[in-house]
Amino acid sequence: MEFKDKKILVLGAGISGIAVSGILKELGARVTLSDAKREEDIKHDLTGIVNAGVALAMGRQDESLLEAVNLIVLSPGISIYNPLVELAKEREITVISEVEVAYQLCQAPIVAVTGTNGKTTTTTLIGEMLKAAGLETVVGGNIGLALSEEVRSVKKTGVAVAEISSFQLEGVLEFKPHVAAVLNLTPDHIDRHRSMENYQLMKERIFTKQTGDDYVILNYDDLAVRHMGDRAPSQVVYFSRLRDLPSGLFVQDGVIKVSWNGDVTEILPVADIKIKGGHNVENALVACGCAYFMGVTAEVMAEVLRNFGGVEHRIEPVTEVNGVWYYNDSKATNPESAIKALEAFDGHIILIAGGRDKNTDLTEFMTLVKEKVDHLILLGEAKTRFAEAACEAGIKSVRQVDDFGAAVKLARSLAKAPQVVLLSPACSSYDLFNNYEERGQVFKEMVHQLR
Ligand code: ADP
Repeated sequence: MEFKDKKILVLGAGISGIAVSGILKELGARVTLSDAKREEDIKHDLTGIVNAGVALAMGRQDESLLEAVNLIVLSPGISIYNPLVELAKEREITVISEVEVAYQLCQAPIVAVTGTNGKTTTTTLIGEMLKAAGLETVVGGNIGLALSEEVRSVKKTGVAVAEISSFQLEGVLEFKPHVAAVLNLTPDHIDRHRSMENYQLMKERIFTKQTGDDYVILNYDDLAVRHMGDRAPSQVVYFSRLRDLPSGLFVQDGVIKVSWNGDVTEILPVADIKIKGGHNVENALVACGCAYFMGVTAEVMAEVLRNFGGVEHRIEPVTEVNGVWYYNDSKATNPESAIKALEAFDGHIILIAGGRDKNTDLTEFMTLVKEKVDHLILLGEAKTRFAEAACEAGIKSVRQVDDFGAAVKLARSLAKAPQVVLLSPACSSYDLFNNYEERGQVFKEMVHQLR
């Protein structure tokens, strides 16, 4: 795709929108960056791109912006249902996402990971494995680093590892990773995608442009993901945590194995994986699959899995206070991920949950809370609905508090070893914080102050 001399409108002044504006300008395009927010409300520094000649249109997203525009590039935050984008489509202006620009610019093969949960952990693990194998590796995408920026430095002989969200897949055209993976699929972001079917369709775009030379790694244990294999144009590689597979990645006699074209390779015993929980076994299986098809040896994969301590805010051990361990799982912004955290412990949990309610079903979550949690501490906008669901599930010790500080103090006063205190909110953070990172940071600071 040619960008030179095109008139390009970039929508959304976040990390990727800003990065891609600068890059497109450098490539000789006439670029306008627009955001519905006013310039003074944009969190990031715009001076670099303004000095480079990118025009700004802030605080408005009206029809006049489409004047003579040949191409629209969307940041992940901008939906394809945005009225301006719908209007652009009516006028037959091509609309792509920042990830598509990245693909067009990338010389190296791409390994791309999507799924509802586990993307960042798995993407990071893959990056570590490829680096440990001596490959020139860049990591980017939904992970907080603009993919279009990261891929520019990597040569043909290197590899780009991309964490890809369903939002980013809304605007792909030719995006074709050499190895793609879909971790799992549970209802999330349905407000934006409008239906579960659409959400699934967006996820499938990660492999629709692949060919027979490419690989797609799919979760055999997740029926919706398993059936994606029927529609994949590439070589389907299943992974399963629960059963042996004739081919693919699985756990046999407690050992992770890859079986492909009749060769069976042992990677390492599950017990040697440093990151906790069955969900992380799945993430490890996917990472091994991606690394395997990029030529990484079993020894290198095993070494990384023995040493990788996980990503911040994901069941992250904070510290021990009076013999009680505190864990920060602020990234658990939906019940499915909080369930994974609960499953990672043997019980004796004091759980701090709540935040902005996504109104998802709580039955399975509360069933597990009843089994594993000694005291449930609830806060935020969701606390009343959560407390009602807890009552219905027959959970006895449920406390509601007004703020985060009160939650941590209450947890401390209740906790006795071998109990653990776990922040795994099952809700987004936007009622009290700017994002989950800030929530996790505040939690960690409060815990450190307890010492
Ligand atoms: P994502 O980038 O997709 O949001 P992360 O790796 O950041 O995923 O993990 C977020 C949370 O999702 C974790 O704290 C954990 O509770 C849960 N999680 C991680 N991996 C998986 C998985 N494979 N299946 C289900 N839940 C998972």
